[in-house]
Amino acid sequence: MKTYDVLLKGNKLWASQKLLEDPGFFDRLLHLQTPEFLWIGCSDSRVPANQITGTDPGEIFVHRNIANVVVNTDVNLLSVLDYAVNHLKVKHVIVCGHYGCGGIKAAVAKTDYKPVLNMWLRNIKDVYRLHRDELDKMEDDELRCDKLVELNVREGVMNLAKTSIIQRAWQNEQRPDLHGWVYGLKDGIIKPVFEMNSGTHIDPLYEYDNL
Ligand SMILES: [Zn+2]
Repeated sequence: MKTYDVLLKGNKLWASQKLLEDPGFFDRLLHLQTPEFLWIGCSDSRVPANQITGTDPGEIFVHRNIANVVVNTDVNLLSVLDYAVNHLKVKHVIVCGHYGCGGIKAAVAKTDYKPVLNMWLRNIKDVYRLHRDELDKMEDDELRCDKLVELNVREGVMNLAKTSIIQRAWQNEQRPDLHGWVYGLKDGIIKPVFEMNSGTHIDPLYEYDNL
């Protein structure tokens, strides 16, 4: 059996088990997608949004990239955000990083990962530079990386709040709340590290007054 055949076999087993537990499961999902949450997480295979939150298909709208970076020129992420906020009407947007993140470690290293990865990781280097005083003081490399994971999540949430997509929804519909979380690979527990409720004021430089 090829390695990918294991996936197809696993899929058949999963689908039949779901039907056994709940005969209407797929019928319901077919006609309804009303997730309350948008999840922006890391692509790391150890951090699957549904499994670690004990949720089912249909409950979380998901976007993942290396080190869960929120970049204001990322058409992919902004399209997901636009659709989730304006069409699915999600009530919460969660940026979830994880301790021990390889993308964060790579951004701190001085290795040349060649153009595309360098470009992406530079966004994380920018987060480091913004918080250099706090991070440089930390002597333990692992703790410093973990702190950067938290700060990257925080900056990601703040970058969401800078978008007109979020600001317009805050003004017109008093949602969504924004959450910054970090998942622990060692214990499987999610730690909330930052929150911006709908309507929070940010640096006026980023606030639009003609939404
Ligand atoms: Zn990661």
